[in-house]
Amino acid sequence: MTELRTLKVALLGCGNVGAQVARILLDDADMLASRAGARLELVGIAVRNLDAPREVELPRGLFTTDAETLIKDADLVIELMGGIEPARTLILTAMRNGACVVTGNKALVAKDGPTLHEEADKAGVQLSYEAAVAGAIPILRPIRDSLSGDRITRVLGIVNGTTNFILDQMDSTGAQFADALAQAQRLGYAEADPTADVEGYDAASKAAILASLSFHTRFSLDDVYCEGISSVTAADIAAAKDAGFVIKLLAIAEKLTAAGTETGTETGANGDTGVSVRVHPTLLPREHPLAAVRGAFNAVFIEAENAGELMFYGQGAGGKPTASAVMGDLISAARSIVLGGPGRAETTTGQVSALPITAAVTSYYIGLDVADQPGVLAKIARLFADHGVSIEIMRQTIHRDADSNVESAELRIVTHRASEAALAATVEAVKGLDVINSVTSVLRVEGV
Ligand code: NAP
Repeated sequence: MTELRTLKVALLGCGNVGAQVARILLDDADMLASRAGARLELVGIAVRNLDAPREVELPRGLFTTDAETLIKDADLVIELMGGIEPARTLILTAMRNGACVVTGNKALVAKDGPTLHEEADKAGVQLSYEAAVAGAIPILRPIRDSLSGDRITRVLGIVNGTTNFILDQMDSTGAQFADALAQAQRLGYAEADPTADVEGYDAASKAAILASLSFHTRFSLDDVYCEGISSVTAADIAAAKDAGFVIKLLAIAEKLTAAGTETGTETGANGDTGVSVRVHPTLLPREHPLAAVRGAFNAVFIEAENAGELMFYGQGAGGKPTASAVMGDLISAARSIVLGGPGRAETTTGQVSALPITAAVTSYYIGLDVADQPGVLAKIARLFADHGVSIEIMRQTIHRDADSNVESAELRIVTHRASEAALAATVEAVKGLDVINSVTSVLRVEGV
Protein backbone atom coordinates (compact mmCIF):
# COMPACT_ATOMS: atom_id res chain seq x y z
CA MET A 1 0.00 0.00 0.00
CA THR A 2 1.37 3.42 -0.89
CA GLU A 3 2.25 5.71 1.99
CA LEU A 4 -0.14 8.67 2.32
CA ARG A 5 1.45 12.10 2.26
CA THR A 6 1.09 14.30 5.34
CA LEU A 7 -0.47 17.76 5.24
CA LYS A 8 0.32 20.20 8.02
CA VAL A 9 -2.70 21.78 9.68
CA ALA A 10 -2.44 24.98 11.73
CA LEU A 11 -5.38 25.84 13.96
CA LEU A 12 -5.98 29.46 14.97
CA GLY A 13 -8.27 29.57 18.00
CA CYS A 14 -9.23 26.91 20.54
CA GLY A 15 -12.57 28.11 21.87
CA ASN A 16 -16.02 26.54 21.47
CA VAL A 17 -15.39 25.41 17.92
CA GLY A 18 -11.59 25.23 17.74
CA ALA A 19 -11.35 22.82 20.69
CA GLN A 20 -13.78 20.42 19.01
CA VAL A 21 -11.91 20.66 15.70
CA ALA A 22 -8.64 19.83 17.51
CA ARG A 23 -10.33 16.87 19.22
CA ILE A 24 -11.60 15.46 15.92
CA LEU A 25 -8.21 15.97 14.23
CA LEU A 26 -6.47 14.03 17.00
CA ASP A 27 -9.10 11.36 17.74
CA ASP A 28 -10.22 10.58 14.20
CA ALA A 29 -6.88 10.87 12.40
CA ASP A 30 -7.23 7.52 10.58
CA MET A 31 -10.76 8.17 9.39
CA LEU A 32 -9.82 11.66 8.21
CA ALA A 33 -6.77 10.32 6.37
CA SER A 34 -8.90 7.78 4.50
CA ARG A 35 -11.40 10.47 3.51
CA ALA A 36 -8.85 13.14 2.58
CA GLY A 37 -6.29 10.91 0.90
CA ALA A 38 -3.61 12.44 3.13
CA ARG A 39 -2.76 12.39 6.81
CA LEU A 40 -3.80 15.64 8.50
CA GLU A 41 -1.21 16.51 11.11
CA LEU A 42 -2.22 19.17 13.64
CA VAL A 43 1.08 21.05 13.99
CA GLY A 44 -0.07 23.74 16.40
CA ILE A 45 -2.88 25.75 17.92
CA ALA A 46 -2.62 29.52 18.30
CA VAL A 47 -4.43 31.11 21.22
CA ARG A 48 -4.23 34.33 23.25
CA ASN A 49 -3.79 32.78 26.65
CA LEU A 50 -1.78 29.56 27.02
CA ASP A 51 -3.23 28.94 30.49
CA ALA A 52 -6.92 29.38 29.67
CA PRO A 53 -9.03 26.32 30.54
CA ARG A 54 -10.02 24.24 27.48
CA GLU A 55 -13.14 22.17 26.96
CA VAL A 56 -11.05 19.32 25.58
CA GLU A 57 -7.82 17.92 26.96
CA LEU A 58 -5.15 18.61 24.36
CA PRO A 59 -1.33 18.20 24.38
CA ARG A 60 0.11 21.36 25.92
CA GLY A 61 3.02 21.30 23.46
CA LEU A 62 0.62 22.13 20.59
CA PHE A 63 -0.25 25.56 21.97
CA THR A 64 1.43 28.80 20.98
CA THR A 65 0.67 32.49 21.07
CA ASP A 66 2.68 33.05 17.88
CA ALA A 67 0.11 32.62 15.11
CA GLU A 68 2.34 34.28 12.46
CA THR A 69 5.07 31.67 12.85
CA LEU A 70 2.58 28.80 13.12
CA ILE A 71 1.00 29.49 9.71
CA LYS A 72 4.35 29.80 7.87
CA ASP A 73 4.74 26.14 6.87
CA ALA A 74 1.13 25.03 7.04
CA ASP A 75 -0.64 23.40 4.08
CA LEU A 76 -4.03 24.03 5.67
CA VAL A 77 -4.97 26.83 8.06
CA ILE A 78 -8.19 26.76 10.09
CA GLU A 79 -9.16 30.18 11.43
CA LEU A 80 -11.52 29.98 14.41
CA MET A 81 -10.48 33.06 16.37
CA GLY A 82 -13.30 35.31 15.16
CA GLY A 83 -13.20 39.09 14.77
CA ILE A 84 -11.69 41.06 11.93
CA GLU A 85 -8.05 41.49 12.99
CA PRO A 86 -5.71 39.69 13.28
CA ALA A 87 -7.86 37.01 11.58
CA ARG A 88 -7.91 38.89 8.26
CA THR A 89 -4.15 39.44 8.05
CA LEU A 90 -3.40 35.87 9.12
CA ILE A 91 -5.77 34.43 6.49
CA LEU A 92 -4.35 36.63 3.72
CA THR A 93 -0.77 35.75 4.72
CA ALA A 94 -1.57 32.03 4.89
CA MET A 95 -3.08 32.09 1.39
CA ARG A 96 -0.13 34.08 0.00
CA ASN A 97 2.09 31.35 1.49
CA GLY A 98 0.10 28.76 -0.49
CA ALA A 99 -2.11 27.35 2.28
CA CYS A 100 -5.80 26.54 1.83
CA VAL A 101 -7.90 28.27 4.46
CA VAL A 102 -11.05 27.14 6.28
CA THR A 103 -12.83 29.68 8.48
CA GLY A 104 -16.09 30.06 10.37
CA ASN A 105 -15.72 33.82 10.51
CA LYS A 106 -18.98 35.19 9.05
CA ALA A 107 -18.24 38.74 10.16
CA LEU A 108 -14.97 38.79 8.22
CA VAL A 109 -16.30 37.01 5.11
CA ALA A 110 -19.33 39.33 4.96
CA LYS A 111 -17.21 42.44 5.49
CA ASP A 112 -14.27 41.68 3.27
CA GLY A 113 -15.19 38.62 1.17
CA PRO A 114 -14.02 40.13 -2.15
CA THR A 115 -10.45 40.75 -0.85
CA LEU A 116 -10.23 37.25 0.63
CA HIS A 117 -11.52 35.64 -2.58
CA GLU A 118 -9.19 37.69 -4.77
CA GLU A 119 -6.22 36.55 -2.73
CA ALA A 120 -7.39 32.90 -2.83
CA ASP A 121 -7.80 33.09 -6.63
CA LYS A 122 -4.39 34.75 -7.04
CA ALA A 123 -2.70 32.14 -4.86
CA GLY A 124 -4.65 29.26 -6.43
CA VAL A 125 -5.79 27.99 -3.03
CA GLN A 126 -9.16 27.02 -1.61
CA LEU A 127 -10.95 29.37 0.78
CA SER A 128 -14.02 27.83 2.41
CA TYR A 129 -16.41 28.85 5.18
CA GLU A 130 -19.34 26.42 5.40
CA ALA A 131 -19.38 26.95 9.20
CA ALA A 132 -19.97 30.69 8.77
CA VAL A 133 -23.65 30.21 7.87
CA ALA A 134 -26.05 28.07 9.89
CA GLY A 135 -23.41 26.06 11.82
CA ALA A 136 -23.69 22.35 11.05
CA ILE A 137 -26.15 22.72 8.19
CA PRO A 138 -24.59 21.98 4.82
CA ILE A 139 -25.93 25.00 2.96
CA LEU A 140 -23.12 26.86 1.19
CA ARG A 141 -21.80 23.82 -0.65
CA PRO A 142 -25.30 22.77 -1.87
CA ILE A 143 -25.90 26.32 -3.12
CA ARG A 144 -22.46 26.61 -4.72
CA ASP A 145 -22.18 23.08 -6.15
CA SER A 146 -25.45 21.14 -6.20
CA LEU A 147 -27.55 24.08 -7.42
CA SER A 148 -24.96 25.54 -9.78
CA GLY A 149 -26.96 24.30 -12.78
CA ASP A 150 -30.15 25.96 -11.59
CA ARG A 151 -31.34 29.52 -10.98
CA ILE A 152 -32.11 30.37 -7.38
CA THR A 153 -34.87 32.94 -7.13
CA ARG A 154 -35.31 33.36 -3.38
CA VAL A 155 -33.61 32.34 -0.14
CA LEU A 156 -35.34 32.66 3.23
CA GLY A 157 -33.25 31.71 6.23
CA ILE A 158 -33.59 31.40 9.98
CA VAL A 159 -29.85 31.76 10.49
CA ASN A 160 -29.58 33.03 14.04
CA GLY A 161 -30.46 30.56 16.79
CA THR A 162 -30.52 33.15 19.58
CA THR A 163 -33.26 35.23 18.00
CA ASN A 164 -35.20 32.15 16.96
CA PHE A 165 -35.09 30.92 20.55
CA ILE A 166 -36.28 34.30 21.87
CA LEU A 167 -39.13 34.62 19.35
CA ASP A 168 -40.13 31.00 19.94
CA GLN A 169 -40.24 31.61 23.71
CA MET A 170 -42.37 34.72 23.17
CA ASP A 171 -44.68 32.74 20.89
CA SER A 172 -45.09 29.73 23.15
CA THR A 173 -45.25 31.47 26.55
CA GLY A 174 -46.51 34.98 25.76
CA ALA A 175 -43.33 36.43 27.33
CA GLN A 176 -42.12 39.95 26.61
CA PHE A 177 -38.86 40.35 24.65
CA ALA A 178 -36.78 41.27 27.72
CA ASP A 179 -37.93 38.18 29.66
CA ALA A 180 -37.35 35.84 26.73
CA LEU A 181 -33.87 37.36 26.24
CA ALA A 182 -33.05 36.86 29.93
CA GLN A 183 -34.17 33.23 29.63
CA ALA A 184 -31.95 32.78 26.53
CA GLN A 185 -29.02 34.25 28.47
CA ARG A 186 -29.66 31.93 31.44
CA LEU A 187 -29.64 28.90 29.14
CA GLY A 188 -26.50 30.02 27.27
CA TYR A 189 -28.28 30.73 23.96
CA ALA A 190 -27.57 34.47 24.18
CA GLU A 191 -24.39 36.27 25.11
CA ALA A 192 -24.09 38.83 27.92
CA ASP A 193 -24.00 41.50 25.20
CA PRO A 194 -26.67 40.20 22.83
CA THR A 195 -26.55 43.17 20.41
CA ALA A 196 -25.07 41.36 17.40
CA ASP A 197 -27.79 38.72 17.58
CA VAL A 198 -30.90 40.68 18.58
CA GLU A 199 -30.21 43.65 16.31
CA GLY A 200 -29.82 41.28 13.36
CA TYR A 201 -26.13 42.02 12.58
CA ASP A 202 -25.10 38.36 12.81
CA ALA A 203 -27.95 37.34 10.49
CA ALA A 204 -27.03 40.21 8.13
CA SER A 205 -23.50 38.82 7.70
CA LYS A 206 -24.98 35.45 6.82
CA ALA A 207 -27.51 37.06 4.46
CA ALA A 208 -24.64 38.72 2.54
CA ILE A 209 -22.87 35.35 2.20
CA LEU A 210 -26.04 33.49 1.16
CA ALA A 211 -26.90 36.18 -1.40
CA SER A 212 -23.36 36.16 -2.85
CA LEU A 213 -23.40 32.42 -3.49
CA SER A 214 -27.04 32.25 -4.58
CA PHE A 215 -26.81 35.08 -7.09
CA HIS A 216 -23.17 34.68 -8.21
CA THR A 217 -22.34 38.24 -7.23
CA ARG A 218 -20.25 39.45 -4.29
CA PHE A 219 -22.46 41.25 -1.82
CA SER A 220 -21.12 42.73 1.39
CA LEU A 221 -22.66 43.67 4.70
CA ASP A 222 -23.25 47.20 3.36
CA ASP A 223 -25.71 45.75 0.83
CA VAL A 224 -27.93 44.25 3.53
CA TYR A 225 -30.87 46.11 5.04
CA CYS A 226 -31.10 45.11 8.69
CA GLU A 227 -33.76 45.33 11.41
CA GLY A 228 -33.51 43.24 14.58
CA ILE A 229 -36.13 41.86 16.96
CA SER A 230 -35.69 44.14 19.99
CA SER A 231 -38.84 46.11 19.16
CA VAL A 232 -41.05 43.04 18.64
CA THR A 233 -43.59 43.03 21.48
CA ALA A 234 -45.65 40.31 23.13
CA ALA A 235 -48.67 42.08 21.62
CA ASP A 236 -47.18 41.74 18.10
CA ILE A 237 -46.63 38.04 18.67
CA ALA A 238 -50.13 37.54 20.09
CA ALA A 239 -51.75 39.43 17.22
CA ALA A 240 -49.72 37.47 14.68
CA LYS A 241 -50.69 34.21 16.38
CA ASP A 242 -54.32 35.20 16.38
CA ALA A 243 -54.16 35.86 12.65
CA GLY A 244 -52.49 32.48 11.95
CA PHE A 245 -48.89 33.70 11.72
CA VAL A 246 -45.63 33.22 13.57
CA ILE A 247 -42.91 35.91 13.74
CA LYS A 248 -39.39 34.86 12.70
CA LEU A 249 -36.24 36.86 12.09
CA LEU A 250 -35.54 36.04 8.44
CA ALA A 251 -32.51 36.63 6.27
CA ILE A 252 -33.96 37.14 2.81
CA ALA A 253 -32.22 37.30 -0.55
CA GLU A 254 -34.48 37.48 -3.56
CA LYS A 255 -34.13 38.35 -7.16
CA LEU A 256 -36.40 41.05 -8.49
CA THR A 257 -36.54 40.90 -12.24
CA ALA A 258 -38.17 43.14 -14.81
CA ALA A 259 -41.29 41.26 -15.93
CA GLY A 260 -40.68 39.04 -18.92
CA THR A 261 -36.90 39.49 -19.13
CA GLU A 262 -35.73 36.54 -17.10
CA THR A 263 -37.11 34.19 -14.51
CA GLY A 264 -37.12 35.79 -11.09
CA THR A 265 -39.65 36.24 -8.37
CA GLU A 266 -41.20 39.46 -9.59
CA THR A 267 -40.51 43.00 -10.63
CA GLY A 268 -39.19 45.29 -7.92
CA ALA A 269 -40.77 48.56 -6.94
CA ASN A 270 -40.56 51.11 -9.81
CA GLY A 271 -39.43 48.33 -12.15
CA ASP A 272 -36.08 47.96 -10.33
CA THR A 273 -34.14 44.80 -11.05
CA GLY A 274 -31.47 43.26 -8.86
CA VAL A 275 -31.28 41.40 -5.58
CA SER A 276 -32.96 42.53 -2.40
CA VAL A 277 -30.92 41.36 0.60
CA ARG A 278 -32.49 42.04 3.96
CA VAL A 279 -32.95 40.90 7.54
CA HIS A 280 -36.07 41.76 9.51
CA PRO A 281 -38.76 40.26 11.71
CA THR A 282 -41.24 38.60 9.37
CA LEU A 283 -44.68 37.09 9.74
CA LEU A 284 -44.94 33.61 8.25
CA PRO A 285 -48.13 31.56 7.96
CA ARG A 286 -48.02 28.89 10.67
CA GLU A 287 -48.16 26.18 7.99
CA HIS A 288 -44.99 27.46 6.24
CA PRO A 289 -42.09 24.95 6.66
CA LEU A 290 -39.95 27.62 8.36
CA ALA A 291 -42.67 28.23 10.97
CA ALA A 292 -41.93 24.76 12.38
CA VAL A 293 -38.32 25.68 13.18
CA ARG A 294 -38.35 25.89 16.97
CA GLY A 295 -35.90 26.83 19.70
CA ALA A 296 -32.35 27.63 18.67
CA PHE A 297 -32.49 25.60 15.45
CA ASN A 298 -31.70 27.09 12.05
CA ALA A 299 -33.15 26.41 8.61
CA VAL A 300 -32.73 27.77 5.12
CA PHE A 301 -35.56 27.60 2.58
CA ILE A 302 -34.56 27.93 -1.06
CA GLU A 303 -36.71 28.45 -4.12
CA ALA A 304 -35.04 27.59 -7.41
CA GLU A 305 -36.34 27.62 -10.95
CA ASN A 306 -36.00 23.87 -11.59
CA ALA A 307 -35.43 22.35 -8.13
CA GLY A 308 -38.51 24.09 -6.75
CA GLU A 309 -38.60 24.43 -2.97
CA LEU A 310 -35.83 22.99 -0.77
CA MET A 311 -35.32 23.21 2.97
CA PHE A 312 -32.14 22.62 4.97
CA TYR A 313 -32.55 22.22 8.72
CA GLY A 314 -30.29 21.60 11.71
CA GLN A 315 -28.17 23.02 14.51
CA GLY A 316 -26.93 26.49 13.64
CA ALA A 317 -24.30 26.79 16.37
CA GLY A 318 -22.42 24.95 19.09
CA GLY A 319 -18.89 23.62 19.22
CA LYS A 320 -19.47 20.11 17.87
CA PRO A 321 -22.05 20.93 15.16
CA THR A 322 -19.94 23.80 13.85
CA ALA A 323 -16.79 21.67 13.96
CA SER A 324 -18.58 19.17 11.70
CA ALA A 325 -18.92 21.86 9.01
CA VAL A 326 -15.29 22.91 9.48
CA MET A 327 -14.10 19.32 9.04
CA GLY A 328 -16.10 18.95 5.80
CA ASP A 329 -14.34 22.00 4.40
CA LEU A 330 -10.98 20.76 5.64
CA ILE A 331 -11.33 17.38 3.93
CA SER A 332 -12.40 19.08 0.71
CA ALA A 333 -9.42 21.46 0.86
CA ALA A 334 -7.04 18.57 1.62
CA ARG A 335 -8.39 16.63 -1.35
CA SER A 336 -7.85 19.64 -3.60
CA ILE A 337 -4.19 19.66 -2.52
CA VAL A 338 -3.82 15.90 -2.99
CA LEU A 339 -5.47 15.93 -6.41
CA GLY A 340 -3.84 19.18 -7.50
CA GLY A 341 -5.63 22.39 -8.41
CA PRO A 342 -7.58 24.86 -6.31
CA GLY A 343 -10.84 22.86 -6.25
CA ARG A 344 -14.29 24.29 -6.79
CA ALA A 345 -14.41 28.06 -6.30
CA GLU A 346 -17.48 30.25 -6.21
CA THR A 347 -18.47 32.08 -9.38
CA THR A 348 -19.19 35.78 -9.65
CA THR A 349 -20.73 35.96 -13.10
CA GLY A 350 -24.15 37.12 -11.92
CA GLN A 351 -23.44 40.85 -12.01
CA VAL A 352 -26.71 41.78 -10.36
CA SER A 353 -26.88 44.83 -8.15
CA ALA A 354 -28.08 45.05 -4.58
CA LEU A 355 -31.37 46.91 -4.30
CA PRO A 356 -32.23 49.36 -1.53
CA ILE A 357 -34.99 48.38 0.88
CA THR A 358 -37.36 50.79 -0.87
CA ALA A 359 -37.30 48.47 -3.90
CA ALA A 360 -38.40 45.43 -1.90
CA VAL A 361 -41.86 44.09 -2.60
CA THR A 362 -43.61 42.14 0.11
CA SER A 363 -46.88 41.77 2.00
CA TYR A 364 -47.44 43.66 5.24
CA TYR A 365 -49.26 43.20 8.49
CA ILE A 366 -50.49 46.46 10.01
CA GLY A 367 -52.07 46.77 13.44
CA LEU A 368 -54.21 49.87 14.08
CA ASP A 369 -55.96 51.16 17.16
CA VAL A 370 -58.99 52.98 15.76
CA ALA A 371 -62.07 54.78 17.03
CA ASP A 372 -65.15 52.56 17.05
CA GLN A 373 -67.26 54.68 14.71
CA PRO A 374 -69.35 53.91 11.66
CA GLY A 375 -67.51 54.36 8.35
CA VAL A 376 -63.99 53.85 9.77
CA LEU A 377 -63.32 50.66 7.83
CA ALA A 378 -64.41 52.20 4.54
CA LYS A 379 -62.24 55.29 5.18
CA ILE A 380 -59.15 53.16 5.82
CA ALA A 381 -59.80 50.81 2.89
CA ARG A 382 -60.16 53.82 0.56
CA LEU A 383 -56.89 55.31 1.79
CA PHE A 384 -55.03 52.04 1.16
CA ALA A 385 -56.54 51.80 -2.34
CA ASP A 386 -55.56 55.42 -3.10
CA HIS A 387 -51.94 54.49 -2.34
CA GLY A 388 -52.02 51.40 -4.55
CA VAL A 389 -51.83 48.97 -1.63
CA SER A 390 -54.54 46.33 -1.79
CA ILE A 391 -55.88 44.67 1.34
CA GLU A 392 -56.03 40.88 1.55
CA ILE A 393 -57.39 40.48 5.09
CA MET A 394 -58.99 43.06 7.42
CA ARG A 395 -60.12 41.99 10.89
CA GLN A 396 -61.66 44.10 13.63
CA THR A 397 -61.82 43.39 17.37
CA ILE A 398 -63.78 45.68 19.72
CA HIS A 399 -62.43 46.58 23.19
CA ARG A 400 -64.30 48.41 25.98
CA ASP A 401 -62.24 50.31 28.57
CA ALA A 402 -63.62 49.18 31.95
CA ASP A 403 -62.99 52.59 33.62
CA SER A 404 -64.05 55.05 30.94
CA ASN A 405 -66.53 52.71 29.22
CA VAL A 406 -65.15 54.04 25.90
CA GLU A 407 -65.05 51.53 23.05
CA SER A 408 -62.12 51.30 20.68
CA ALA A 409 -61.40 48.87 17.92
CA GLU A 410 -58.27 47.03 16.99
CA LEU A 411 -57.85 46.58 13.28
CA ARG A 412 -55.51 44.02 11.77
CA ILE A 413 -54.73 44.31 8.11
CA VAL A 414 -52.69 42.01 5.86
CA THR A 415 -51.95 43.51 2.46
CA HIS A 416 -51.19 41.93 -0.89
CA ARG A 417 -47.60 42.39 -2.05
CA ALA A 418 -46.69 46.05 -2.32
CA SER A 419 -43.53 48.14 -2.42
CA GLU A 420 -41.90 49.45 0.75
CA ALA A 421 -42.29 52.95 -0.58
CA ALA A 422 -46.05 52.55 -1.18
CA LEU A 423 -46.50 50.97 2.24
CA ALA A 424 -44.53 53.71 4.02
CA ALA A 425 -46.63 56.39 2.30
CA THR A 426 -49.82 54.53 3.24
CA VAL A 427 -48.82 54.24 6.90
CA GLU A 428 -47.95 57.95 7.04
CA ALA A 429 -51.31 58.84 5.53
CA VAL A 430 -53.16 56.46 7.91
CA LYS A 431 -51.53 58.20 10.90
CA GLY A 432 -53.11 61.46 9.71
CA LEU A 433 -56.67 60.11 9.77
CA ASP A 434 -58.77 61.51 12.64
CA VAL A 435 -60.21 58.05 13.41
CA ILE A 436 -56.76 56.52 14.12
CA ASN A 437 -55.60 56.40 17.75
CA SER A 438 -52.28 54.75 16.91
CA VAL A 439 -50.46 52.46 14.51
CA THR A 440 -49.57 49.56 16.82
CA SER A 441 -47.38 47.55 14.46
CA VAL A 442 -46.10 47.32 10.92
CA LEU A 443 -44.44 44.02 10.05
CA ARG A 444 -43.49 42.38 6.78
CA VAL A 445 -45.09 39.10 5.76
CA GLU A 446 -43.63 36.30 3.61
CA GLY A 447 -45.00 33.01 2.38
CA VAL A 448 -48.60 34.08 1.70
P1 NAP B 1 -14.38 31.54 21.01
O1 NAP B 1 -14.95 30.47 21.88
O2 NAP B 1 -14.46 32.94 21.47
O3 NAP B 1 -12.83 31.16 20.78
C1 NAP B 1 -11.95 32.04 20.15
C2 NAP B 1 -10.56 31.43 20.24
O4 NAP B 1 -9.68 32.25 19.48
C3 NAP B 1 -9.98 31.35 21.64
O5 NAP B 1 -9.29 30.15 21.81
C4 NAP B 1 -9.01 32.54 21.71
O6 NAP B 1 -7.88 32.32 22.52
C5 NAP B 1 -8.56 32.61 20.27
N1 NAP B 1 -8.15 33.97 19.89
C6 NAP B 1 -8.93 35.08 19.84
N2 NAP B 1 -8.21 36.14 19.44
C7 NAP B 1 -6.96 35.68 19.26
C8 NAP B 1 -5.74 36.29 18.87
N3 NAP B 1 -5.66 37.60 18.61
N4 NAP B 1 -4.63 35.53 18.77
C9 NAP B 1 -4.67 34.21 19.05
N5 NAP B 1 -5.81 33.56 19.42
C10 NAP B 1 -6.91 34.31 19.53
O7 NAP B 1 -15.01 31.49 19.54
P2 NAP B 1 -15.89 30.33 18.88
O8 NAP B 1 -17.26 30.36 19.44
O9 NAP B 1 -15.14 29.06 18.90
O10 NAP B 1 -16.01 30.88 17.38
C11 NAP B 1 -14.90 30.86 16.51
C12 NAP B 1 -15.34 31.34 15.12
O11 NAP B 1 -16.34 30.46 14.62
C13 NAP B 1 -15.95 32.74 15.10
O12 NAP B 1 -15.60 33.39 13.90
C14 NAP B 1 -17.44 32.47 15.13
O13 NAP B 1 -18.19 33.51 14.53
C15 NAP B 1 -17.50 31.21 14.30
N6 NAP B 1 -18.68 30.40 14.57
C16 NAP B 1 -18.94 30.01 15.85
C17 NAP B 1 -20.06 29.24 16.11
C18 NAP B 1 -20.38 28.78 17.51
O14 NAP B 1 -21.37 28.08 17.69
N7 NAP B 1 -19.58 29.10 18.50
C19 NAP B 1 -20.94 28.90 15.06
C20 NAP B 1 -20.62 29.29 13.76
C21 NAP B 1 -19.49 30.04 13.53
P3 NAP B 1 -8.00 32.14 24.13
O15 NAP B 1 -8.75 30.85 24.32
O16 NAP B 1 -6.61 32.05 24.60
O17 NAP B 1 -8.76 33.33 24.60
